[in-house]
Amino acid sequence: VSSSEFDLIRRHFARPGAGRPDVLLGIGDDGAVLRPPAGKDLVAAIDTLVAGVHFPLDTDAESIGHKALAVNLSDMAAMGAEPAWAMLALTMPRADESWLEGFCRGFFALARAHDVALVGGDTTRGPLSISVQIQGFVPPGAAFRRDGARPGDLICVTGTLGDAGLALLLEQDMDIGRPDARAYLRRRLDRPQPRVREALLLRGLVHAAIDVSDGLFADLGHVLEASGVGATLHLERLPLSAEFRSCLDTMNAAGYAALRRFAPGLAWADLALCSGDDYELCFTVPPEHRSRLEYLAANGLPCSLIGVVEADAGLRCRLEDGSLHQPGRRGYDHFGADDR
Ligand code: ADP
Ligand code: MG
Repeated sequence: VSSSEFDLIRRHFARPGAGRPDVLLGIGDDGAVLRPPAGKDLVAAIDTLVAGVHFPLDTDAESIGHKALAVNLSDMAAMGAEPAWAMLALTMPRADESWLEGFCRGFFALARAHDVALVGGDTTRGPLSISVQIQGFVPPGAAFRRDGARPGDLICVTGTLGDAGLALLLEQDMDIGRPDARAYLRRRLDRPQPRVREALLLRGLVHAAIDVSDGLFADLGHVLEASGVGATLHLERLPLSAEFRSCLDTMNAAGYAALRRFAPGLAWADLALCSGDDYELCFTVPPEHRSRLEYLAANGLPCSLIGVVEADAGLRCRLEDGSLHQPGRRGYDHFGADDR
């Protein structure tokens, strides 16, 4: 990237207003100087978005900017951390002024909403790929972990499942579903809303947590494995959006064919269990905190109780009639046999 292109990049990324008093030196030097709060644990995470892998190639720049930060904020939420500082490694084919403007609109709107400062980064030329590294704080020892689930814990999930996965499938046949429902699902894919606020409300209640990026079945599976436990899920309790239901209800033959390639068995259940990109929070809560959880759920924390942790290893998915359902695929794995 030439020096004029670097000027362009600095003009876009080094903006005032990201001012946090704990950023002693931000963009412009060889490194950022940051002052972590005394007596807190620092939580760090990084996630990369590759064009055509983590977002469809037709995704608008503003959505890409939003999503690059959102997936990292989602990791902060999954740790119960309060996000603070982000760094951005951006690789792009050329310095395109209007694309950068859109990207920054999406990125900084979400950063402002969560009081996150962009404190540095790196800019290189190449196929479009965006890495964001993020850091946040938790009270000592209070991070949500994957290995804390215990038998008897209630399994909960925020929001609704399967919307983003269905949106990806709809890209294969846009005649499916009402336009407003399709637009809703596409927005769920393009503009995931990280559950940071919800996670902070859940501090003190959670035994284990993970964000659902690769599908509930796979991600909850990681929690169960790390905790040395198993679980039963009640599939009729999986939270589905009205738009998800209406799209499945009005699906045509081509849509069903696409769906069956993805999920040979129960389409709605497999989409909700196995499609990625939802960025909801899945967490377990000991039964003694049930009433506190129900209070939060009734007062603005969108969450559903979907199952229970058990001592027996494995994840059992039960239908309303009591029978077991085995998902037709496991989840999204970049190096696995499944493809999306
Ligand atoms: P160096 O060669 O010393 O690494 P760079 O020219 O890569 O410096 O970066 C100069 C400054 O601009 C650094 O403070 C770096 O953190 C910042 N920077 C570069 N690219 C980005 C970006 N995409 N987003 C935020 N800050 C960036
Ligand atoms: Mg550099």
